Amino acid sequence: MIYGIIGDIHSNGDALTAILGEMRREHVDGVLCVGDIVGYAAEPTECIDLVREAACAVVAGNHDYAVAGKFPVNYFNADARSAALWTIDRLSGGARDFLKNLPLVERLPGITLVHGSLHRPEFFDYITSMAEAKQAFDQLDTPICFYGHTHVPLGITLTDGRITVDTGHVFDLSKAEKALINVGSVGQPRDWDIRASYALYDTEKRVVKINRVKYDIHSAADKIYSAGLPKFNALRLTGR
Ligand code: ZN
Repeated sequence: MIYGIIGDIHSNGDALTAILGEMRREHVDGVLCVGDIVGYAAEPTECIDLVREAACAVVAGNHDYAVAGKFPVNYFNADARSAALWTIDRLSGGARDFLKNLPLVERLPGITLVHGSLHRPEFFDYITSMAEAKQAFDQLDTPICFYGHTHVPLGITLTDGRITVDTGHVFDLSKAEKALINVGSVGQPRDWDIRASYALYDTEKRVVKINRVKYDIHSAADKIYSAGLPKFNALRLTGR
């Protein structure tokens, strides 16, 4: 089975549409989402509708919970906060309820999904050190966990008690006991590559591949400008 895993879409409908098209061409059997459907950009409703239609499992990101009233917007920087408040004003009750009811952790056979870290997921911590990776592994009871939150794709594996970090884009997990795979960001990559990011997981081969997809960045940026959202939210998409 081939899973396509997306996350950190952040209301970027142009990037999400490009990736969903690419996943259809890759004959993906199931789509999974590690959260942050909304925030920063101008198409929250479109992105929620697309994810609801495409994904068989979705977990909440901090931006999803913030617009649903379950996470304080005060934790955000000014640009993220004003986008969250803008989004709150525009979402239908149904869309807000969908975000509010998303779980923090989802388990499928052999796969766990979380936005930040499995260690106290309600705090949306980042995994940026060996100690934090170990805390997440301690909570992981399936062979693989997909997550996001940093917007930087990464593979962390546990083999014979040793943790290894891999910044490449193909992860062979056949020898790993457990793996934490950050799928990167669909709508706002932060790793020096402005193309949209998602992961493909071949459950038989136990190989994960990070794919990058070009999309119409100028269209996404123009929508942010036209909506009156913070200019930086558009500028950072262009890598400048
Ligand atoms: Zn995010």
